[in-house]
Amino acid sequence: MAVMGMVIYLRPLRKNFFEMTDRAKLFSRRGEVLAAEKKAILESIEEGVLTCDREGRITYLNSHAQTLLKLQNTSILSKKLDEVAASVESQLFFEMQRLFQRAKAEGERTRSLIALEKDGKVSLEMLAVPYAEGHGTCIVLRDRSNQKRMVEMGKEFIANASHELRTPITIIRGFAETLQDLQEISEEMFNSILGKIIRNCERMEILVKNLLTLADLDASSSLSMKECDLLSVVGSACYTMLNLAPKTHIEQLQNVDEAPILADGSMLELAIFNLLKNAVKYSPPPAQIKITILASEEVVEVQIEDQGMGIPEEEVSKIFDRFYTVDKSHSRQLGGAGLGLSIVKTIIDKHDGKIWATSNIGIGTTFHILLPRI
Ligand code: ADP
Repeated sequence: MAVMGMVIYLRPLRKNFFEMTDRAKLFSRRGEVLAAEKKAILESIEEGVLTCDREGRITYLNSHAQTLLKLQNTSILSKKLDEVAASVESQLFFEMQRLFQRAKAEGERTRSLIALEKDGKVSLEMLAVPYAEGHGTCIVLRDRSNQKRMVEMGKEFIANASHELRTPITIIRGFAETLQDLQEISEEMFNSILGKIIRNCERMEILVKNLLTLADLDASSSLSMKECDLLSVVGSACYTMLNLAPKTHIEQLQNVDEAPILADGSMLELAIFNLLKNAVKYSPPPAQIKITILASEEVVEVQIEDQGMGIPEEEVSKIFDRFYTVDKSHSRQLGGAGLGLSIVKTIIDKHDGKIWATSNIGIGTTFHILLPRI
């Protein structure tokens, strides 16, 4: 009976033991899953993350932090921030150490933004967050260089646009005041002044239209892409060009009868038209233009070749920049402000294409566009 009793007594004990072991296994498994989950989260985020204990000893860093801190390996783990700062003599570690001390002393999250290169091109935001009543601190590193660059570019763009708009406004105002002040004026002079006012109004109109096109292109993440035939897109652009400059001579060569591509037809036509317009603008009249369309299995290339003034070799890489002109006063006379090619480049980029130019002074320029085929 006593033996039976023990058996009865031991059975639940044994059961409990196995249940506890199962539970312990489950907990340890859950712990592993949680740790793996935490690691996956920390590795997937854009920010660099580094943690330190109360003394500033580095306890963890994700691979993004390793990249931002330009570290080859994780040998800084379990070293103190100030020791690392002193050994690598890095401005970044000194700043991190300073931020860590401040966050620890104040007991609250502390932020700082530092420029890493002399010209301020690389800027990094650091956020130190103390946790567990100061037992540890988490330092988050964010690369802010792109945002800074975007803000700078935005400022530069507005300054350029205002400058380009101010010039025709000043001219129009000057001539309008001349007309107002003159008591008597010959018909010839009157017509000449009026012509200048109209030309500057047209210049402003082109500029505002180009600025709006760029703003639209920047705002829309994707264009409305449909299957269309590149040959008919080029044909429409030529038709518009010949209507504006009927004496222009356009020769077209192609190795296919149809070149179906995925494109925003009207935007692509605008890009081709801008290139044709430049070929006319920068060539002695009447312009001689050769268009070659070469389709292969994967891509189709459009070459637009003129026999115009050409572009100096050192300027060719810059002509696609916004507001860039090789000769400002010459471009202004022709009604341009350096936006035409940047619109072309933005459109081609949005089609996953490539564009570049080759040029010889006095001989001519060729623009090459590569577009993926369907
Ligand atoms: P713009 O309004 O001044 O024409 P673009 O952005 O269209 O501006 O072109 C930028 C610069 O590139 C022009 O100022 C011009 O100097 C040069 N350029 C563009 N296309 C040609 C060309 N076909 N031949 C010679 N120079 C060109």
